[in-house]
Amino acid sequence: MTLVNAYIATSATEPLVRGTVERREVGPNDVLIDIEWAGICHSDIHTVRGDWGEIPYPMTVGHEIAGVVAAVGAEVTRHRVGDRVGVGCMVGSCRECEQCLAGNEQYCLKGMIGTYNAVDADGTITQGGYSEQIVVAEDFVLRVPESIPFEKAAPLLCAGITTYSPLRHWNAGPGKRVAVVGLGGLGHMAVKFAHAMGAEVTVLSQSLKKREDGLRMGADHYHATGDPDTFAALAGSFDLIVNTVSSGIDIGAHLDLLKTDGTLVNVGAPSEPLPVQVFSLLMGRKSFAGSAIGGIEETQEMLDFCAEHGIAPEVEVIPADRINEAWERVLASDVRYRFVIDAGTI
Ligand SMILES: [Zn+2]
Ligand SMILES: [Zn+2]
Repeated sequence: MTLVNAYIATSATEPLVRGTVERREVGPNDVLIDIEWAGICHSDIHTVRGDWGEIPYPMTVGHEIAGVVAAVGAEVTRHRVGDRVGVGCMVGSCRECEQCLAGNEQYCLKGMIGTYNAVDADGTITQGGYSEQIVVAEDFVLRVPESIPFEKAAPLLCAGITTYSPLRHWNAGPGKRVAVVGLGGLGHMAVKFAHAMGAEVTVLSQSLKKREDGLRMGADHYHATGDPDTFAALAGSFDLIVNTVSSGIDIGAHLDLLKTDGTLVNVGAPSEPLPVQVFSLLMGRKSFAGSAIGGIEETQEMLDFCAEHGIAPEVEVIPADRINEAWERVLASDVRYRFVIDAGTI
């Protein structure tokens, strides 16, 4: 066991402070990663603040990790010392169930092992990426193509795959009209992916404040949901709506924007239930769905897709001593479009 520097939460209410976390010794199938960049995801804040239930403290969060392999176990074949790699929201699963065998480790029937705040195979609680180093089983470590700017790779590991996977699953592509609700960390990636896949992309944002950005990222249309005329004008328009907003939205009003057989898929995770009037699903055989990250193989596919299409998130790099300030700005939706911590400053 090794102690490494980290930013840790000591309670639901205190600011994060510099401390240490324990990392296990590198096992035969493990990779030791020197973390260089760690993205800030809204889930980090929800978790620490107890929005999704009580958690054990101290806790180190962070599940958008980009770094360089520093050591490998004797049986590791997929990664070598010096490789650029990434780790996302999970660091393990049973590897045997129907879902794991199908490449959907995130839906492991025994439960995936989250990168933080999860019980690891050895019974310890996993600790995330706001830290100097991490030890991860090699089959949960992704290759980061050289053409992706390294600091921009980190947010792909959660925000990227979270939006890529549902777009692929529901066949975003030529001839499909896709709406993205919210132009934040997740939403801006959804716009870039849907555009690169060939779909006609509409952003539905509260206001028109980020309209220029949205169009530059590849949106064909941009509408304000704060304007009641938007819902009348766009009724029955979309094959797929990706809702990236993690606070409540009016689900019924958005279902009305779907074509027959359309799907509204949630990728944000509000802490409160969202009420749905079933009648709005019946009329038009519509689906109200959810999607969580993606499997390991699909995450690699997403990274390779980004390299091929020149896609990367838009990031604001911060030193570690500004994490608390950055969290407040995430809560105030004041980030364009993802904070990434320079882990060298931890
Ligand atoms: Zn996340
Ligand atoms: Zn499994």
